[in-house]
Amino acid sequence: ALGLIGATAYSIYDLRHPEEQYEPDPTKKTLVILGTGWGSVSLLKKLDTENYNVVVVSPRNYFLFTPLLPSCTTGLIEHRSIMEPIRNILRQKKATVKFYEAEATKIDYEKRVVLISDDSEIKGDISHTEVPFDMLVIGVGAENATFGIQGVREHSCFLKEVTDAQNIRKRIMDCVETAMFKDQTPDEVKRLLHMVVVGGGPTGVEFAGELQDFFNDDLKKWIPEIQDNFHVTLVEALPNVLPMFSKQLIDYTESTFKEEEITIRTKTMVKKVTDKYIEAEVTNPDGSKSLETIPYGLLVWATGNAVRPVVRDLMSQLPAQANSRRGLAVNEYLVVNGTENIWAVGDCAITNYAPTAQVAGQEGAFLARLFNTMAKTDTIEKELQTLSNEQSLAKTDEDRNRVFDEIRERQKQLRRTKQIGPFQYSHQGSLAYIGKERAVADISWLSGNIASGGTLTYLFWRSAYLSMCFSSRNRVLVAVDWIKARLFGRDVSR
Ligand code: NAD
Repeated sequence: ALGLIGATAYSIYDLRHPEEQYEPDPTKKTLVILGTGWGSVSLLKKLDTENYNVVVVSPRNYFLFTPLLPSCTTGLIEHRSIMEPIRNILRQKKATVKFYEAEATKIDYEKRVVLISDDSEIKGDISHTEVPFDMLVIGVGAENATFGIQGVREHSCFLKEVTDAQNIRKRIMDCVETAMFKDQTPDEVKRLLHMVVVGGGPTGVEFAGELQDFFNDDLKKWIPEIQDNFHVTLVEALPNVLPMFSKQLIDYTESTFKEEEITIRTKTMVKKVTDKYIEAEVTNPDGSKSLETIPYGLLVWATGNAVRPVVRDLMSQLPAQANSRRGLAVNEYLVVNGTENIWAVGDCAITNYAPTAQVAGQEGAFLARLFNTMAKTDTIEKELQTLSNEQSLAKTDEDRNRVFDEIRERQKQLRRTKQIGPFQYSHQGSLAYIGKERAVADISWLSGNIASGGTLTYLFWRSAYLSMCFSSRNRVLVAVDWIKARLFGRDVSR
């Protein structure tokens, strides 16, 4: 056992100190990758960086394991446990990769440059510069959709980034502590403890489930006075939540929420948000519509994705993107339509698949395979050129035959490498945690839906997420957080 621990510790130590990296050849093409999310990072992980001059630009110098972000809002998981520094990933590559912590503000397709800006807290001002590219991969994701609804940006919390989860965590405790403040009116206490989630997609459902767990497991034990007023409401414009799941899983989710005492308000479309109320249009059973004002303490806005300005700007430069609304239209090799040297992955690309982490991850891995193959093809073609020159200079039959055999071998290799087919998504399934140790899942390889609760599902959900974590380090940190919360409860400090 001691030997095993020693070997594991040594291999981790070894990973932290990989062999020296070498500088890439400046004559090679410059490949610029925008973003450090699911698409870009899975590309980086599988890319042979020695074939290109690779430059990564992202305002976030870490990868974020987004499926567990809802758990950070209640302190079940600490946010650093689901962050993986991008430098850790780049350090493992054979050839050096440059990383700039900056935001890409414009892609100039004609000039083949990306304009980037760094809003540095240390310098106190914004630095602007340009990064030229031969090849560009856009993996910048999407921003939160607000549909221009008044007051959303000012008054609600989103759930996309680490800072969003931290804001929600603070806001929950702020609402609770303020509700407990001396001499609050009963109406104000009720308002402050009303937690409203807008959007019944997986983000809204998972967050509502986690929040109710927080209340049941910890809050009501530490602060019993809030018991009668703390309430979670999920608001959805459509007739049901989780439209991408089957009817069976939707029914299971809705009945679980009922048991958990989470209110689901379907056919309720939010039209306006103020600092204390949301105004929603409700479609009544007889088809008539009425307006309702709903007071809230915390408002979490989870109504899906919208196109980022940098992507919209590129679309406006390309006539081939004129009919595209939701993001960059790409071909079956993920090349942005209207370009030859720009690819898009993840939520900023429009494909036939839902904008999920699973799709983005597979797209990134596909591009790595494509780029590795393209580099291999280039090398073989250059070798073929050299060999054909050698053949024409060969003096003896023996030399000519040897070179001829080598040419045939290279041609065979070339045919093999060129066989890379278009991107094909392989759906492994969808999983959503719905609170109360229950999860819904549609698992394609089991060709069926699983809607169940109890220890087994809970363990399945947890082990599925743990196995998906990007690094062993993240896996250990997340497991420790879960154990900590089981033993001591969640941390209810603000
Ligand atoms: P979504 O687009 O799936 O759902 C948003 C919901 O908000 C929709 O049902 C829409 O009808 C509703 N909505 C929009 N405007 C509204 C309004 N004004 N008032 C009330 N309701 C309104 O968004 P999401 O949940 O953030 O998911 C985004 C993507 O990420 C999806 O493709 C999803 O599948 C994926 N995702 C998957 C998981 C998972 O598999 N566990 C988790 C999170 C996200």
